[in-house]
Amino acid sequence: KEWCHLIPKIELHAHLNGSIRDSTLFELAKVLGEKGVIVFAAVEDVIMKSGRSLPECFQLFDLFHILATDHETVARIAKEAIEDFAAENVVYIELRTTPKNNESKGMTKRSYMEAVIKGLRAIETVSVYFLNTDDSTDNSIEAIPTNDIHGAKKKNIYVRLLLSIDRRETTAAAMETVDLALELKDLGVVGIDLSGNPVVGEWNTFLPALTYAKEQGLPITLHCGEVPNRKEVQSMLDICPQRIGHACFLENEEWERVKSSKIPVEICLTSNLRTQRLESIDRHHFADLYKAKHPMVLCTDDPGLFSTSVSNEYYLAASTFGLSKGELIDLAQNAIEFVFASDGVKKALTDIIQAAKRELQ
Ligand code: IMP
Repeated sequence: KEWCHLIPKIELHAHLNGSIRDSTLFELAKVLGEKGVIVFAAVEDVIMKSGRSLPECFQLFDLFHILATDHETVARIAKEAIEDFAAENVVYIELRTTPKNNESKGMTKRSYMEAVIKGLRAIETVSVYFLNTDDSTDNSIEAIPTNDIHGAKKKNIYVRLLLSIDRRETTAAAMETVDLALELKDLGVVGIDLSGNPVVGEWNTFLPALTYAKEQGLPITLHCGEVPNRKEVQSMLDICPQRIGHACFLENEEWERVKSSKIPVEICLTSNLRTQRLESIDRHHFADLYKAKHPMVLCTDDPGLFSTSVSNEYYLAASTFGLSKGELIDLAQNAIEFVFASDGVKKALTDIIQAAKRELQ
């Protein structure tokens, strides 16, 4: 486990509100309990419960959204999430979040995202590189040094943002999110995600916004096949997403399409296990994809919700599927190819992982 901690890692599938620190969650819930907004005792049970089912996870998300509805809290959870990822040697993260309107707090999708960015700017304990500027003018790309993986020095992390469309949203709200992503390109937004409760919403509702994103050159990643829904999975593959997440319920025909078009898969082992997408971890499609040398990346999904970390996901993959140390580093390195950031960032990441490889092997 300690060794997995030392690998410089790439996280491409983590939801901001699923990454809230436990201590912060308790603190926020307590304050709201004292104010009478929620019943703390009832909430405490949900927070403490282990082995949550998927509906229970979405119940907890609703709770997160009650807790994180003001700008200050949004900035705080973004700051803490990045500090926590950096602490475990994540050197590049695409953090995804659903921009939210909340009239009672004067929050718009845009001001929500501004709060997230404010949180990133407020980080002092870690050097954060999040501006998505052109390679030739982005000094930070030159400046990011190889991380001291043992943690004696300040950590460095590249942060990019993906804006999520929630499956509960209307077409107009989804379009608004894509417009916002285009406006915030220079502030680190690199793509669009489709997520939310997989049994809610219709594909045709999101399609116009996803098509618009593609037309505008914004890469997209889709939560695909979280529940059996062949028709939707096929429609998703029809629009050629740059990556897909989960892919738990794909039939052979769909797998063939994914494999022949080499669509990278974001693998979330703990999440899939906890939400009962499979009977046991050794039956996970990771094994087949790994054997086929299919592009994939190990991710947490919701480290707070599932009490996991990227290092833990690497450890789980190694211990379940018998991966060697070299193979684990190669997994991290291979993920560089399908990040949504610029070639300059990719090169910097390659240097960082190569240097760690020399030190660790
Ligand atoms: P947020 O976008 O920062 O608010 O992060 C939480 C949101 O991410 C949830 O409300 C869901 O919409 C989405 N999400 C997190 N985990 C999952 C998952 O496993 N499947 C689908 N959606 C998810």
